[in-house]
Parts: sequence; C-alpha cells; structure tokens
Amino acid sequence: MRKFQVITLFPEMVEGVFSTSMLWKAQKEGIVQLTTVQLRDFGLGPRHQVDDTPYGGGDGMLLMVEPLWRAVRYAKSQDPQAMVVLTSPRGQRWHQAMARQHAADSRGIIFICGRYEGVDERILAVVDEQWSIGDFVLTGGELPAMTMIDSIVRLIPGVLGGELSAQIESFTDGSTLEYPQYTRPEEFQGMRVPSVLLSGHHARIAEWRHQQSQRLTKKNTSQA
Ligand code: SAH
Repeated sequence: MRKFQVITLFPEMVEGVFSTSMLWKAQKEGIVQLTTVQLRDFGLGPRHQVDDTPYGGGDGMLLMVEPLWRAVRYAKSQDPQAMVVLTSPRGQRWHQAMARQHAADSRGIIFICGRYEGVDERILAVVDEQWSIGDFVLTGGELPAMTMIDSIVRLIPGVLGGELSAQIESFTDGSTLEYPQYTRPEEFQGMRVPSVLLSGHHARIAEWRHQQSQRLTKKNTSQA
C-alpha cells in the first residue's frame, strides 16, 4: 500500500480533501494510506511553539527547525523508506511526468508544508527533494501537497477504474491536451454534439479527436 504523510499545522484542511471522492475510495480499497502529522504536537515548551522571528530581521515568522525535524523523524518511524519532500516555491516545478513517475514508484512520500515566511533552512538536511506547483506564492504548503498527492494517486493502477482514461489524457506526452468531450443530451440550448461523435464511425471519430487535440494544444502553447 502506498503511503503519503503530510506534516502540517492545519491537518483539517488536508483531511477534507483526503476524505472526498477518488482519494477516499483509494483508501477504502486499501490502495493508498493518506495521513496527516500535526506539527504542533512536536512544538517546543508548554505552548508547543513552532515558529519564531528570522535572524537578521525581516517580516513575519519562520517554522523552527526542531519541531519540523522531530515531526519528520516521527513520520519516518511510520514509514522508514519514505522520501521527504519540502513544498517550496524554490522547488522543481511539478508536472504530469513527475506524477506518473511517482505513481509507478512504491516508495512512500512525506510532505512538509511550510507556513508564514517559510522554514528554517537547516531542515534541508533531512529533505530529499523540493517541489513547487508554479511560480507564485501561497500561504502554505498544504494546497501544493494536496495537488501533488491528488495527481499521483489518480494514476495508481486501480484508482480510476478505466486505466485507459489516464493513458490518453492531457499532458501524457508532456504537452498534448485532450480533445473536447460530450455526454447526453444530444442538444442543449441549441448547442449540438458534433455529429461525427454520433456517427458510430470509429476511424472518423479518432481522426476528429486527434485534430481537436492538435488544435487545443497549439492554442495552449501559443498562450504560454
Ligand atoms: N517567503 C517564501 C514563501 C513562503 S510561503 C518565499 O518568498 O519563497 C509559505 C510556504 O508555502 C512555503 O514554505 C511552502 O511550503 C509553501 N508554498 C508557497 N508557494 C508554494 C509553491 N508555489 N509551491 C510549493 N509550495 C509553496
């Protein structure tokens, strides 16, 4: 069973996502185990302090190294082989091939979610990789961790059901987008489903889908 652990000050945020739809189903079927580790439990002193002001001055607070270190050690005790990932704007940019690679891997992943102005740099001593979801700054690493876990788990065999639906979708080859899709009814508010899709002619349908994919991909790459 694949294990994903998320070290966070806001487990309720992550658990909401974990208990919904495909992620919930994947856990119920024993394909993945998704858990949170409350960073506060590893805080220092009677107030379980986890953050402090940066040396050298500057705005905001940083997550202290010791609570993070202890939380990582605890998570490792639950899954000794797991890799440790720090969510960070500095990290390697997340993309579909990485999701695919980690869906095929059997190693567990421990995500560290930064908050406030980030984390004490020394935590990198126990971090294997840093991953980013894009060139913008969020208030915490929870949304990135959930985004990455969601994109990995849906590619693990058995989760989506129809394995093919994951094989021919957007970005499978790095850039190509999926073609437009329609379901019932055939007409809605005067908008009709393209007639080729109702023709039952498999070769023509495949050709139409290929052309549409090319058109959307060209449009997308010219916007980038
Ligand atoms: N001061 C930092 C930003 C801190 S944001 C800087 O300027 O780089 C607080 C935390 O949110 C980070 O430690 C990280 O864990 C998470 N985070 C914010 N944006 C992110 C992104 N694009 N990708 C991954 N994690 C991100």
